[in-house]
Amino acid sequence: MIMYDLILKNAKLIDGSIVDIAIEAGKIAELGQIDAAAQKTIDLKGLHYVSAGWIDSHTHCFARSPIYHDEPDLIGVHAGVTAVVDAGSVGALDADEFYHLAQQSKTNVYSFLNISKIGLIRQSELSDMNDIDVPLFDQALAKYPDFIIGIKVRMSRSVVGENGIKPLVQAKEMQKKSGLPLMIHVGNNPPELDEVADLLTKGDIITHCFNGKPNKIFDKENNLRDSIKRAIERGVILDIGHGGESFSFAVAERAKCLDIYPNTISSDIYSKNRLQGPVFSLANVMTKFICLGYSLKRIIDSVTCNAAEILHLKNKGELAVGYDADITIFDLKQEKIALSDAEGEVRESNERFVPLACIVSGQTEITEEGRKNGLND
Ligand SMILES: [Zn+2]
Repeated sequence: MIMYDLILKNAKLIDGSIVDIAIEAGKIAELGQIDAAAQKTIDLKGLHYVSAGWIDSHTHCFARSPIYHDEPDLIGVHAGVTAVVDAGSVGALDADEFYHLAQQSKTNVYSFLNISKIGLIRQSELSDMNDIDVPLFDQALAKYPDFIIGIKVRMSRSVVGENGIKPLVQAKEMQKKSGLPLMIHVGNNPPELDEVADLLTKGDIITHCFNGKPNKIFDKENNLRDSIKRAIERGVILDIGHGGESFSFAVAERAKCLDIYPNTISSDIYSKNRLQGPVFSLANVMTKFICLGYSLKRIIDSVTCNAAEILHLKNKGELAVGYDADITIFDLKQEKIALSDAEGEVRESNERFVPLACIVSGQTEITEEGRKNGLND
């Protein structure tokens, strides 16, 4: 007789159907109506949703970073997020230390390595091209192939100083050897967004895609820039990267009118915007897309299967037999909530995402809200 490690009974999928999920050795072993025995059973009684584990494609979680720092588990499993991607807090100089720190967390942690070897130890990490050390960068990539899964370049005025578009040209060159996804932070100009977008190719990720700064994806007449239209047609990815100053409801609303949706919803969370807002958590950022009228499926896909595909995370992002047992258990709580974007604009939602627990490689982690709702380990 089969004895699984864990069975989640009566889990509600986002299409409303109810299934049991069996987990064995950190993998999803069976899905459907399951009568087998298990070491441990959690009965969700059809009350709580489950999805593949949430993946936050843009965070900052190198604890030693002087400006954008946080602890992976505080933005990860404690918030219903099973995988976090650190977006360029770290450059090649600190790759070893970050790797070893990351291994201590329960949350899956990945790095998009900053092309500047110094990482985010100051805001202007690309103001001196001498801080791009290609051999050191290549060494780090070769040493941690399962940890460093992408490349980060920040292309805004305060970061690049007098260097204009040069760091991006260099990043595209550095990307050639590994073929890893390149994430580009866009913000204040120069460099101009058109100039940035025209250099991007399929699979490259524009983060802060719905920022409300003058250099945004819309022109002065509020039409989509041709450069962005062409980039989307080439397969360039749009990522939210909310952060402290990079998400505007007005831009997101205009985009929706034009049928433009982000591929991934991410938080750009770090301790300051987690504690003081306007980010607070990935769940809170996801709730903003309920205000915008996005479907539950679109929101969940953007933190599960879309993210896994774009980040090339094999065996993640789906509830399917043989996939990693990374699962998020959550409620959509009917409750009025006022939400602020990065511009101080407020929208109201009648429901919000509440993460109750997550399972990472088969191990259960209950959130504070989960305990209040009667879940226990
Ligand atoms: Zn960021």
